[in-house]
Parts: sequence; structure tokens; C-alpha cells
Amino acid sequence: MRRNRKFLSVILIVLLAGLFLASPADAWNSHGACTNIIIGDQEWLKAYDNITVTPWTYADVDTASVGPNFVQQYIEGAPGTVTSAAAILTNYADEPDWKMDQDLNLSPLQALTGGSQGWRHQYYGLGWLRLGAAPSRAQYFFDLAGKANEKGDLYWTFRYLARALHYVQDTTEPYHGVPAPAGLIFKGIGSFSTLMGSALNHHYNLEGYQGAMIARSSPVLVNALRTAVPLDTMTATSANWLCRNGAYLGRPLVRTLWPLENKFFGDSLNSKDSWYADETGLNVADPGTDQAAYDQELGVPLGRMSSYTKTLLLLARQQFGL
Ligand SMILES: [Zn+2]
Repeated sequence: MRRNRKFLSVILIVLLAGLFLASPADAWNSHGACTNIIIGDQEWLKAYDNITVTPWTYADVDTASVGPNFVQQYIEGAPGTVTSAAAILTNYADEPDWKMDQDLNLSPLQALTGGSQGWRHQYYGLGWLRLGAAPSRAQYFFDLAGKANEKGDLYWTFRYLARALHYVQDTTEPYHGVPAPAGLIFKGIGSFSTLMGSALNHHYNLEGYQGAMIARSSPVLVNALRTAVPLDTMTATSANWLCRNGAYLGRPLVRTLWPLENKFFGDSLNSKDSWYADETGLNVADPGTDQAAYDQELGVPLGRMSSYTKTLLLLARQQFGL
């Protein structure tokens, strides 16, 4: 049994090594646009509509490495500018994708997740194998938000929270939990380059489509974001828990999304070459179409993205007294 497990581990690592060398890591398209919709029902945030931008003064506690090309931006204006919690959360929900996690040496296994950004933004699970650091990254920034709050620094409380929610949101994107249906990964041993190309095409096209449909205000997808409710924080106790649980629940969805993507996007998806759907003529789905069926299924993880974001905000309120 133990030898068997070892053997399977080696097979999985070899498969993953090929599969993820060019793995994408942005996850849900436009965290900011989605976050803006998600926080629409967070009435409590309105009390924080007058926050002064402060400079970053956390070198003593915020010690994790950042990418060499990462530049800390002040989107609402230089320190001293007045902003709001809602603006900070929306503006910085994408910040971890702005080279913060690129070009780093974090783990000897990071190549299996497409590099250092993939490592920090994903949490792959295949059998007993777990790869990626998204849960600890979410927790790292959540804890820093608490430290900023202790100092009375509301600007960095919400900016660190925005970063924490990015990683929570990432792990609810099913292809960040597993790159392809596990059955296909084993079947793909014979035609490996096709499996690798297909996995990337499914991942990229899901995200491109989701971003395009949020931009077009697709009622099904926007509704999924709006109507989701937070989890009970007796169970969902931390940012780390949310990431692990989000990835766990997302993985089986890949089995359902994959064939729906084959139907909606067509066979070009399943190629060793990269292929992107042309989104220019894309409209909101008509009822009864393959697109509508895809939207229904995509609404499930999108709803989870929203629910888990709201849970993270609830945890912050409970633990920081916001
Ligand atoms: Zn990301």
C-alpha cells in the first residue's frame, strides 16, 4: 500500500510537472469588478467612508518576500488623500496579481503550479497531494489587517483585507483547486501535450468568459454574486479555512464544467495549442442554450466566491471589532 502510494505520487508529480509549467494564475477575471458587486449589501461598510490614505509602515511585521518588479501603488491618491473602505476593497482586490508574487523562489515544487505566483494563488489537490500556498497567504494578510487595525490604521486594515480576500476568491475558482478532471489526467498519459493544452484552455477560457459576462452584467452571474450569503463563522473560522474549503468544494465542479465548456466553446478547446474564444460578439445567454447551461453551473463557484468573501469580511468584523 505504502509503495503503491509512493508510485502514484511519482506519477502525479511527473504529470503535474508537465501540466503546469505554463499554468495561468490570475484566477477569476477582475476581482475588483466582482468585489464591487459582492460588497453591495455590506451596509456596515458605509460607516467607513472617510479613511485617510496612510503610507506603508509595516516593514517589521510584513516580512514575506515580494516580487522584484512589484511596485506599491496608491490608486486613490498619495497618502493624505481621503477614500472609503468600499473603494479600498474594490481597488486592491486585484493587487496580488500585480507582480507581487512573481519571480520568487518559494518552494522546490513551485514549478508544478506554474511558478511562484501560481504557488501562492492556488491550492491543487489530487488524491492526497496538496500543492500551493493560497490558504497561508490569505491568512497572512488577514492577520496583517488585524495588526493595522490595532494601530488604528484603517487604510491598511482594509488594504490588507483586500489582499486576503483575493486569495480566498482565487481558491473558489475550480481550476485553481485541480487543473483538469482527475480521470482525464490519468487517461491523458497517452496524449500528454493535448491534455496539457486542454487544461490551460479550459482554465483561461472560463476566466475570460466570466470576466466578459460580468462586464456585460449577465443576470445569472451577477445574481450569483449578489445573493450569496456568508457561512456560519462557528464553522468557517479563518481565512485559511475558507481557502482550503473553497478549493475542496470546487474540485468536483471541474468534472461538470469541463464537458459544458466542450459544448459551449467547441472542440478547439481540446487542443495542445492555446485557443481563446472570441468574445467580441458575446451576449448574455438566451434561455435553453448551451451558454445558459454553462452559466448555471458557473454560477455555483461564483456564488461561493461571493459567500466566502462575505464570510471573510464577517470574520474581520468579529475579530477586529469593525
Ligand atoms: Zn490571483
